[in-house]
Amino acid sequence: MARYIFITGGVVSSLGKGLASAALGALLQARGYSVRLRKLDPYLNVDPGTMSPFEHGEVFVTDDGAETDLDLGHYERFTGVAARKTDSISSGRVYSNVLERERRGDYLGKTIQVIPHVTNEIKDFLKIGADEVDFMLCEIGGTVGDIEGLPFFEAIRQFGQDMPRGDCVYMHLTLLPFIAASGELKTKPTQHSVKELRSIGIAPDVLVCRSESPIPEKEREKLALFCNVRPDSVIAAMDLKSIYEAPLAYHHEGMDSAVLAAFGITDAPAPDLSKWEDVADRVYHPEGQVRVAVVGKYTQLEDAYKSIAEALTHGGMHNRVKVQAEWIDSEIFDREDAADRLQGYHAILVPGGFGERGTEGKIKAAAYAREHQIPYLGICLGMQMAVIEAARNLAGISNAGSEEFDHESAGQRRFEPVVYHLKEWLEGNRTIQRKADDDKGGTMRLGAYDATLAAGSQVAEIYGSTAISERHRHRYEVDMAYRDQLEAHGLRFSGVSPDGRLPEIVEFKGHPWYIGVQFHPELKSKPFAPHPLFADFVRAAVEQSRLV
Ligand code: GLN
Repeated sequence: MARYIFITGGVVSSLGKGLASAALGALLQARGYSVRLRKLDPYLNVDPGTMSPFEHGEVFVTDDGAETDLDLGHYERFTGVAARKTDSISSGRVYSNVLERERRGDYLGKTIQVIPHVTNEIKDFLKIGADEVDFMLCEIGGTVGDIEGLPFFEAIRQFGQDMPRGDCVYMHLTLLPFIAASGELKTKPTQHSVKELRSIGIAPDVLVCRSESPIPEKEREKLALFCNVRPDSVIAAMDLKSIYEAPLAYHHEGMDSAVLAAFGITDAPAPDLSKWEDVADRVYHPEGQVRVAVVGKYTQLEDAYKSIAEALTHGGMHNRVKVQAEWIDSEIFDREDAADRLQGYHAILVPGGFGERGTEGKIKAAAYAREHQIPYLGICLGMQMAVIEAARNLAGISNAGSEEFDHESAGQRRFEPVVYHLKEWLEGNRTIQRKADDDKGGTMRLGAYDATLAAGSQVAEIYGSTAISERHRHRYEVDMAYRDQLEAHGLRFSGVSPDGRLPEIVEFKGHPWYIGVQFHPELKSKPFAPHPLFADFVRAAVEQSRLV
């Protein structure tokens, strides 16, 4: 059975709990342990699939088709362990499971209550796969004291009692604000936060304190004394220029030693951090810079395209350059000329998205990249836009568009649907079917699907293989019926589903680097293993930078 590490947060949200959890996972791995990371989210949505990226950031998709919190992306990027459906749960999911069971009669005769029914459901979730790894790291979303988080805190408290003594460790992340007037780091908010945690029965073993500067000895002792932790279990988590320095920085501060000591483990092997030293070296010592325009819709919130930003960084690390990604709202091209705005970029990326708003601007960006021989990577909606652009401007289908933007039921069509609503596809040998009015949650083509790449194509060369598997999250699909027509104009369908029915990749002949993919390669990129498409896209950008 795994040992458990629970990671909670206090004082303010957005302290980087996900990152701290991920970095701790990486440090334990560096010492030879196996880990799995898990996220428990207090909100009432069953999963984040239906939440706006503006509000919640990106939706991270797992191989087994779960739509999860973006923290699972951090976990994967730092540990390389592919997340599963069973690594993410929300209050909504917990209550929905409990209520479903209640209706089925599983608890017949009983009054259903938060304790024990809801907390038992959470504890059952925590136990899944416990015998597969040495350490299970479970992060609780939100901050201690939030009303909706209480059942999770209660469940992890009980869990500590259910497990053999010493098999659960609680790590609490807080903020030490710096008061410039007095030149001091303040410990009081942390003291209050720990008090709150202890009032619900959880005594933290390790305190991780975010601060702008190192914690002076006096403050460290004060925190230890008032929060009832050992002084060497007060870990300073200072602001870092790159998140990829976190494993090294946290190790330097003693995070992994403090956690292991809390378990009473004194004979842990020393960590091998060479992988992270190489990663940090590549991030901090680039030998050049390229500018990439990301033409999207959710550009106000950095987290909305988290994995894309990270995958670009990884591609840069691979080529030893810094990738300066600039986020451009595609709606700007409704008013401004794309050529004026996009001039000088070394590559253009159009990411995934939903809905019609801003799509004409994305089509213009795709046209600009094609006509000016600028490296172009279209992801999901970005591939669909590239296909529509080619259909309109090369194949002469002037009203080419996507069914996403005008339904048959809405009366007269504005567009010829070159991209149509996918209602049937194969998952392995199983046929999946959807209707136009299906529920919005969890009904897309989700998770890992195989694709077959044409031998000799540019993408087969980039992947070094003709058989790949990538993660999907979409409802619409490019129509194979247009393949011949588009290929006659140079847009090659170089990757297709194994049954040959669904286009997965298009590439442009005669263009240095113009690739559209129906899936999300960014979800599988890691700092120590950049995704081949991103590595090569950035290589092409470097080449472009030498031309201009
Ligand atoms: N909205 C498009 C679809 O559902 C693209 C989705 C995406 O970019 N993830 O097919």
